[in-house]
Amino acid sequence: MLTSRFAPSPTGQLHLGHAYSAALAHDAARSAGGRFLLRIEDLDQTRSRREFVSGIEEDLRWLGLDWDGEPLVQSRRSAIYQQVLESLQREGLVYPCFCTRSDIAAALNAPHGPTARYPGTCRGLADDPERRAAAPHSWRLDAAKAVARVGLPTWTEFDGERFAASSDDIDDEILARKDAPASYHLACVVDDADSGATLVVRAADLRSSTSVQRLLQMLLGLPEPVYLHHPLVVHEDGRRLAKRDKAPTLAAMRESGVDGRELSHSLVTGRLPAGFRLAEA
Ligand code: GLU
Repeated sequence: MLTSRFAPSPTGQLHLGHAYSAALAHDAARSAGGRFLLRIEDLDQTRSRREFVSGIEEDLRWLGLDWDGEPLVQSRRSAIYQQVLESLQREGLVYPCFCTRSDIAAALNAPHGPTARYPGTCRGLADDPERRAAAPHSWRLDAAKAVARVGLPTWTEFDGERFAASSDDIDDEILARKDAPASYHLACVVDDADSGATLVVRAADLRSSTSVQRLLQMLLGLPEPVYLHHPLVVHEDGRRLAKRDKAPTLAAMRESGVDGRELSHSLVTGRLPAGFRLAEA
């Protein structure tokens, strides 16, 4: 059965871009007689707030996007993520990283020039007894080892096109931190599998996340969903929507009397309210 999901982080109010993702995911599920699930991605406890969770539910109801069952709440699933992390540790596919954010920033300013990639400082340090005694800041995927084991990830888009990731898309991603049992990537693949998601709808700027997540699915032997990467909703002048940007929040639109059901119907057909348009990532 086609099962899609909407998985917002309750770190701010939803905007038109979220409504577009949710409406597409809901429409794909309902028109195939399938399920539409809601997942609350609240692992970042410093930024997640309870009132944003009720705001998400209120926004979805206003849009007429009903979800099946109880929402899955990631902060209640730490023990499950921990087990998956341990299985990756046993396989030697992750390594402890002792770098703080400022260590990484300093290494990235090194003479070879700045890069957004992890400089690899802790790769291969796992057997250093002194290091082993200290608590790591995070656990990182050993991307080279992972790709050597299962190959570069591939996936199928909703229109049937087959995609292949390049090795540039995959870094030694953080999979867990001292203060968080799982990163977005790890929790996302575990939850998509556990909830039986067969269709992942997300904005095209998350395509590199899809590469990492497909790699994790291949390593963990998890089923492969289909992916629908949709264009970004931007302001007419091309500016991206940001959570701190007050104007296009769904709450503001609701308060100004916009009909949410009409809005979600027009979003599904690619018609956006005045002042916004779709743009490729
Ligand atoms: N919590 C992520 C976000 O809001 C989920 C993206 C996804 O995996 O669909 O961007």
